[in-house]
Amino acid sequence: MLSLGIGDGAEHSVLLAIGSLANGQGACRMPRRTFWAPIGVPLPLLVFVAGVALSLLTLRHIVSALWNADVRALGRVLSAISALLLGTLFLSTAFAAAAPGKTWIIGAMVISPERPDAGQVLHVLIEGDRIATVTPAVPADITDAAIVRAEGLYLIPGLMDSHVHLTSIPAIPYPMRAQHPDLVEAYLRQVPRSFLRYGYTTVVDLIVTDPRPLQSMRAAPAHPDIYDCGGALPVPNGYPSQNAPAEYRFRVFPNTVVDPAHTANFPASEDPTAHTPRAAVERILKGGGICVKTFFERGFGRDRNLPVPSADLMQEIVAAAAAARVPVLLHASSIEAQTFGLENGISIFAHGLWNWAPHTGGQAMPPEVQAVLDRVVERSIGYQATLQVIAGLQLLYDPGYLDRADVRRVIPAALLTWYRSDEAQWYKRDLAQGTSDSDMRERYGATLQRGGRVVKYLAQHQARFLFGTDTPSGPTIGNLPGLNGYLEMQRLVDAGLSLRQLLEAATLSNAKAFGLDGQIGTIQPGKRANLVLLGSSPLESVQAYDSIQGIWVGGKHFLPGDLEADRQ
Ligand SMILES: [Zn+2]
Repeated sequence: MLSLGIGDGAEHSVLLAIGSLANGQGACRMPRRTFWAPIGVPLPLLVFVAGVALSLLTLRHIVSALWNADVRALGRVLSAISALLLGTLFLSTAFAAAAPGKTWIIGAMVISPERPDAGQVLHVLIEGDRIATVTPAVPADITDAAIVRAEGLYLIPGLMDSHVHLTSIPAIPYPMRAQHPDLVEAYLRQVPRSFLRYGYTTVVDLIVTDPRPLQSMRAAPAHPDIYDCGGALPVPNGYPSQNAPAEYRFRVFPNTVVDPAHTANFPASEDPTAHTPRAAVERILKGGGICVKTFFERGFGRDRNLPVPSADLMQEIVAAAAAARVPVLLHASSIEAQTFGLENGISIFAHGLWNWAPHTGGQAMPPEVQAVLDRVVERSIGYQATLQVIAGLQLLYDPGYLDRADVRRVIPAALLTWYRSDEAQWYKRDLAQGTSDSDMRERYGATLQRGGRVVKYLAQHQARFLFGTDTPSGPTIGNLPGLNGYLEMQRLVDAGLSLRQLLEAATLSNAKAFGLDGQIGTIQPGKRANLVLLGSSPLESVQAYDSIQGIWVGGKHFLPGDLEADRQ
């Protein structure tokens, strides 16, 4: 059988954490065209008042000093003037920063997923980082705010991708990073910008093995709201910890959990009380995590027969997460793995069911698969179909892929040049083992069809889809930040997800699943001002998501062109 390199971004994360990565700490520059920074009234007013005060106070001293030819007195007066001017400037700047920036978005067709309509012409006021007002009447006086005329455009809540691996680099696993420090730095600097470029204002990183690169991204001037599940919970030597050298596994995955059914697998050198599900969940919460990620994976490619958690352990994990009121995401893509998840109470499947083993031959959906999907619907399990995991592998064998204009938007030019080099083809060669490109495309195409059929069935039965891409799912260059989300959207719609289901999955459903719906997910007063302005309606075509005119994160405005890789 074909070895599908279907990972979880974890290979890179694992290896990333083994060595320290100083390169990820580079600071981003501001976008070249920072949009209107609404300084408003305070600056000119303060400068005027300060100017008058300065004139009145110092004129007498200057005249007096000149008259008496007192150079030292004149010096003192001039120093005082400089200090006052500097102070005034500082004050007015601070005042401007503290004052809530106001922006009216006028006349857009507002589509918000809590309403069943296809949009209403509404006017939206952003104040500071919040949506302050959503109103059908044009306000009488809006002169105190910046104005965005948006007639004929469509305003939707910022999109949320709830399955990303921000610090994994397509085609550059950790052992190669030391050879390409500049490419590594350029990629990590561009990642948050590329997600924003495609309208993703909230992302959730499911496996954090080293918090430092994420901290750098959160400190960058342009980035989505970044949430995470902290360190994931593998079993000892289980997926994905097997990617790390044995001696580093507990260091890279400090939340590795002891399985009560397999205590013999737990190393004597570690303290089991620090590795209970409860201890692991506590560490996640302490680090600001909002979810728990765990795995049921017997392996693929070179790693087979990996240990998997017992039902007892999974129930302990689910109970610990429930006590902490956070969801449990299970990596599961086979009939066995998803059945296991359903039986043990997990909240979200982090992948679609494309592994139909042992029923991989036929075209029709086997009853075993349908039975799993019926339970997914019945229990309202959150479903991240992640079709791009497979499609991103297929893209490795598409000769025209790197020439696409949208690839240039999200990948720095130097890295793109390197992606064309022979050295960068290692993963493609590794998977193919001499098989022709067209055969590889066909094989992944068959897997993709199974994944697509699952999406269609679940869409017809109103399953609870959650938009998550698993970017990047492995070292494939077919999973590029931001762009991969748009490709996933197209795949989902082609497979049978309706445009409304897609919008809900990428906004309100995702927000609810991660306990963020008090903050984001709809366009309503009080919510965080995370918004995307589109040139056409996302309820009419999926291509609308490629017509972005503007993006707001916490009220901060960006133009898509300023976030592209060639603007860094
Ligand atoms: Zn993943």
